[in-house]
Amino acid sequence: MTFDPETTTFLIAGPVRIHPRVLRAMATPSLNHRGDYFHSVVAEIRELLPVMFGAKGHQVVLTGSGSAGLEAMYSSLVPRDRRALVLSNGNFGERGDQIVRRYCPNVTTVSAPWGRALPAEAVRAELAKGDIGAVCVVHNETSVGFANDLAALVPAIRASGALFLVDGISAVAGIPEPIDAWGIDAVVAGSQKGLAAPAGLAMVHLSDRALAALHPGTFYLDLAAHVKSLEKNDTPWTPAVPLFLALREALLLLKQEGLGARLARTHRLADATRAAVAALGLELFPDPAFASDTVTAVKNPTGMGDPELRKVLEKEYNVLVQGGQGAQTGKIFRIGHMGIADWPDLLVTFAALERVLARAGRAPARGASLAAILERMP
Ligand code: PLP
Repeated sequence: MTFDPETTTFLIAGPVRIHPRVLRAMATPSLNHRGDYFHSVVAEIRELLPVMFGAKGHQVVLTGSGSAGLEAMYSSLVPRDRRALVLSNGNFGERGDQIVRRYCPNVTTVSAPWGRALPAEAVRAELAKGDIGAVCVVHNETSVGFANDLAALVPAIRASGALFLVDGISAVAGIPEPIDAWGIDAVVAGSQKGLAAPAGLAMVHLSDRALAALHPGTFYLDLAAHVKSLEKNDTPWTPAVPLFLALREALLLLKQEGLGARLARTHRLADATRAAVAALGLELFPDPAFASDTVTAVKNPTGMGDPELRKVLEKEYNVLVQGGQGAQTGKIFRIGHMGIADWPDLLVTFAALERVLARAGRAPARGASLAAILERMP
């Protein structure tokens, strides 16, 4: 079979599969982005954003991928005259560290190996030294399928008075992230992950405290300018109009399902994926106690790299999963199960994976992973 993007089973770690309603929403003639109709679209998006974040606040939509949202958040909020504390245990933690260092001259990084828990005591000790203006952390480390235990760090972060800045790109609408209960000051979400909209928009939530602390960073991504425009249902620069139309539709779908229901469904799919992985005799890459509900990272079977595994899945079974990043390239593969991913996606993916393993002489009991999934299907 030749890989066909129109019919593929598509479980990479984002962009994720998009509902046809969301795709169709983009197929419109050009709109005047300063006209009444587009203003009404922005007004509706503003009303719907709290559904996705699970909190009310000052929320903006930026034209640009998730990294644009991170650059906006860090350039506008990391202190110039105090320390920033960056926590890192994966590729995106390291990327966040690089961004923060562009805007803050005094950064302390506390890290753990990829896929291992952040050293909570070291974080607390760093906070206790004082002078930390912002704590910057990735909630869900997409690169290694690891959900950081932010709740455990909340008391120390709050006691320090530092701004709490979170990369929620693969967490928002995928794993529980109680923004108000944890006292998060800013969160970045990406359109192409739990929301299941096309790639190219970043949504940023700001608390009152964060709004008051905004300072000019970059020109294009100046969050204060975006907040001011959005209050008038406008954007400071020409927005990606078709993506805004898709965003509205994806938010409406999320509202119909309900945030709680989407999180619960994502969790059930993740649980079934982990059980299916175990049934194949494969091993998770991250510490299983912190395995992410949006992305499962699995160690490649010994002797099988990308050409023997992912490429066969793609070329012969029309199933797309994602490879590893950095040092994990060719050593792990990642299955995304967020957004509108559903049971048939898992069944097809694991049926194909079983065949690929069997053909390589690593046959598990026939149907073992499918049975594990079926047991967990509602
Ligand atoms: N942070 C996390 C946790 C991510 O998962 C990603 C992308 O996968 C990014 C940052 C970068 O986002 P983008 O590629 O949309 O710029």
